[in-house]
Amino acid sequence: MSGWLAVAGIGPGGAALITPEVTDALAEATDVVGYAPYLARIAPRAGAAFHASDNRVELERAAHALTLAAAGRCVVVVSSGDPGVFAMAAAVFEALEAGPETWRTLDIRVLPGITAMLAASARAGAPLGHDFCAINLSNNLKPWPVIDHRLRLAAEADFAIALYNPRSVARPDDFARALDVLREACGPERPILFARAVSTPEEALRVVTLGEARSEMADMRTLVIVGSSRTRRIDRPGGSLLYTPRFAA
Ligand code: SAH
Repeated sequence: MSGWLAVAGIGPGGAALITPEVTDALAEATDVVGYAPYLARIAPRAGAAFHASDNRVELERAAHALTLAAAGRCVVVVSSGDPGVFAMAAAVFEALEAGPETWRTLDIRVLPGITAMLAASARAGAPLGHDFCAINLSNNLKPWPVIDHRLRLAAEADFAIALYNPRSVARPDDFARALDVLREACGPERPILFARAVSTPEEALRVVTLGEARSEMADMRTLVIVGSSRTRRIDRPGGSLLYTPRFAA
């Protein structure tokens, strides 16, 4: 029996945002591997074993999934959002590169999902309508000076900036430092979006200026978008829209 491995994105939370391709792969899987809260979003099915793991053990989880596929199992590794954005697809390829030669012939597919940045920007309007970049503020895998440097260069390049993993209990001060860097580089009037738990029942969006922004406005379920110098706010009844025009001056 020949196994396969699909690294699948299950979107930001809402069931309607899971692609049919991912639903089909899950329907065929004999094994589903992932961080426990993500597995909780998938309906259990007879014939599919769920392998829950902790969030910090991506490489082990990836090697486990590859081992199962090599043994002939049909394996789906789930990530929230898109698996290629700060998630499991790269971990699978790190494990593949470091693993036994036999793994290289495995049938491996990456199935895209709607990443948090796109779900958040759609809810807010179109803040990523012109050039933008995405930065992961988690310093688990990179030191603070690298983050600081990239924030400054992104601001200098006048990108709209999407920030993933803005704030955690383990490092509550880094996001405050990031806001200081951005205020210094972009000024206090720049709009900033805090989009929390987008597409779930807890969804909450807030647009403020960098001058008003406080680190407590974000947590680990929040995606932050800092506008470029061109980003505009349209105030209207029921909430304002945030968008970045398609043209540069
Ligand atoms: N692969 C995921 C990102 C994983 S990093 C993706 O493509 O979306 C985890 C970070 O994603 C969180 O800290 C948060 O910044 C963001 N995130 C994930 N789901 C979210 C949601 N429903 N609403 C807002 N932000 C979300």
